[in-house]
This record gives sequence, structure tokens and C-alpha cells, in this order.
Amino acid sequence: MATSALMHTYGRLPVAFAEGQGAWLTDTAGRRYLDALSGIAVCGLGHAHPAVTQAISEQAARLVHTSNLYQVPLQEAAGAKLTQLSGMEKVFFCNSGAEANEGAIKLARLYGHSKGIDVPHIIVMEQAFHGRTLATLTATGNRKVQAGFEPLVSGFIRCAYNDLQSIEQIMQQRTDIAAILIEPVQGEGGLRAADDAYLTQLRQLCDAHQVLLMFDEVQTGNGRTGQYFAFQHYDWKPDVVTTAKGLGNGFPIGAVMAQGQAAALFQPGHHGSTYGGTPLGCAVVLAVLETLEQDKLCQRANQLSELLRAGFERELASIDGVVGLRGRGLMLGIELDRPCAELVELALERGLLINVTAGQVIRLLPPLILSDEEAQQIIAILSQLIKDWLGQPLPSH
Ligand SMILES: *Cc1c(COP(=O)(O)O)cnc(C)c1O
Repeated sequence: MATSALMHTYGRLPVAFAEGQGAWLTDTAGRRYLDALSGIAVCGLGHAHPAVTQAISEQAARLVHTSNLYQVPLQEAAGAKLTQLSGMEKVFFCNSGAEANEGAIKLARLYGHSKGIDVPHIIVMEQAFHGRTLATLTATGNRKVQAGFEPLVSGFIRCAYNDLQSIEQIMQQRTDIAAILIEPVQGEGGLRAADDAYLTQLRQLCDAHQVLLMFDEVQTGNGRTGQYFAFQHYDWKPDVVTTAKGLGNGFPIGAVMAQGQAAALFQPGHHGSTYGGTPLGCAVVLAVLETLEQDKLCQRANQLSELLRAGFERELASIDGVVGLRGRGLMLGIELDRPCAELVELALERGLLINVTAGQVIRLLPPLILSDEEAQQIIAILSQLIKDWLGQPLPSH
């Protein structure tokens, strides 16, 4: 396109989609693509899922928005469903991942002040991604996201991901820590899953120091890792959990969940959102969560993960240049030994939508409704592309 009225915030690929169905997208010229990215972990139920379509169309015809000045029964129902599935106690609805994390950061500060800490600090991780608002880009561990937007927000301390010692040191030296904010699997940071033992030790450390453990599950939530939320792989809970992406299957909605002391911190006047938890958004959340439950899509995510992992291991095990597989559930990374961003466009040419993150990690976030056959297609197309690109065997032309 020669000129665009849009601000130049994105480097967009040369394709536009006209419609979608399940794991497939059709572009404006009628060509079909297998979607192994789900709009970046958003459309977990695939495109045009009938339950979501029905929820949107029926609720849009009835009532879209009333504001939080009034009771919102659908918000109550969506909150109740979310607490039932997650085991958390209370929910605040907002409109995006960054907003959910803003809510968590505000909770951490309120908590710190309630403990008599004058300047409460939050420990955040290297390579973290928490969003693009000022507080969440400050929490993000990537200079590219921050550069140009100084002064950053104060009150954050960074430590190494998956490194208990680094965090223990900070906890011993300082008495002004209110919370730890962490992604159980780093998405943008390269599909890095924290060790089970490390996360459990973080829970214990937080208990010992009366610090809130806050999980950013914007990407890992809503079935993506094989549980409704990634923390449910463990027998303990964080104090605060944020989510968004898959929660609305493309309808913009996010949530902050809390349990224990953190669940009672927000009082009238502390926080709010004009759009947060509209009847329309909450009808969609209910449809998404009920579908995840009824169709046993967490189990399905685990099955698909095993299928994809086994396939890629079989195809790529002996290929020079492939470092290995990363991630958890349907957050799957294939790490190469060299920068590989150009694979995104090459895959597009072969009718497959993928992404590359952290320079050399191919990122797959396929929908949870993928069929076995579609999973095999992803394995076949992508493995061949990787082999061709790495030159083993040499491309046939
Ligand atoms: C995508 C993402 C965010 C930001 O969500 P937005 O809806 O884009 O604001 C925050 N944290 C994590 C872990 C994410 O993957």
C-alpha cells in the first residue's frame, strides 16, 4: 500500500485476511493458510467458533454496554465461572493484557502500603513481556520496548529468570519488596518455561517474606499450556493472576484475579474501567470458558502438544542448526542456532502462519481445536521449510 492513514507502529506482512474458519484463514485473493499462531495466542477456539459467534450476535442484539454504575449480571456470571475454573477468589475485568497487568501492579502497591512499605517495589524478570503502557513497558525486560519512553516508572527491580539465587539475594537485602511479577512461560521472551521447582520455591519465598506472587498469564492462560491456567500444573496458587488474549477469543477483554489478602485490597474508588466487563464482553468470556470445559480442550492441548513435539523431534532431531524444542502445551518454540526472522514470510508463501521471537525461536501458538491432521500438516510444512532453509538437504532448485 503506497500511503496509509495509520501510524507506522507495525512491520506488517504483505497479506490481508478476509475470513477464517477453525484453524484456517482465507486471504483477500482467496488463498487459504493454516494458522499456527491464532492471532498471537488469542483465538484458542479457532476462527468463527460457533459458540463465540452466537454469544456475540445474540448479546449484541440484546445489550452491549451499561457501565459499571449498575449491576451487570453477565459480569457476575463470567467472574463466577472464572473463579470456579481457576480456583482464584475474586476477579476484576478490564480490556487487555497490559491493562490486567496495570491492575496487578496497582494491587502490589496497595499491598505494600498496607504493610507499611513507603516505596513498594516489584521484582520483575529479564526477557519478560508485560505490555506497552508505561508501567508495563517498565516491567518488561526488553530495552527495545522501553527505549525512547523514558522516564520509566519507578518501583521495579529486575532479576534473572528461573534463577532462585538472584531473587533470594534481593529478598534478603531489601525490605521494600511488595510483589514478584512473572510469566510461568515467557512468550515474547522466547518460549522459555520456568522450572517447576523454581516456581514452587518462589511461592515458598513469597510466603516467608509476605510478598505477593503475581503470575502474568495473559498468554499462558485459558487452556494454552494444558491447564486452564499454567499455575494449575502445581498444587499451590499465586496471589494474583492476570489474563487476557485467549479469554475473549478475539473479543478484547482481560482480567485480574486474586486470592487471599490480595482479593480484598481494591475498594470503591481504587480502580475502574469504562469498558471493563460489559455484558457483551462477558457473554463472550462465558462462551469461551464453557467451550474450553465442555470440549475438554485443556486435555486436547496436552494431546496436541505431544503430537507436535513428537513430530518435530522425529523430523528435526538430526538437523544441524536446530537447537531444540521449548515451551509448554501449545506454546511451542523451535530454537535454531541463528537468527531466523525471514522464516515467517517463507512460511507464509507455503500457506502456514508462524512467528519468530527472541531472534531465533520459531513460535507456534496453534488453536486448541486443531485436528490431528492439521497438526501433521504443520509438522510437515514447517519441518520441510526448516530443512530447506538450513540447507540440509540442499534445496532442490
Ligand atoms: C500479549 C501479552 C501482554 C500484553 O497484552 P495486550 O493485550 O497486548 O496489552 C502482557 N503479558 C504477556 C505475557 C503477553 O503475552
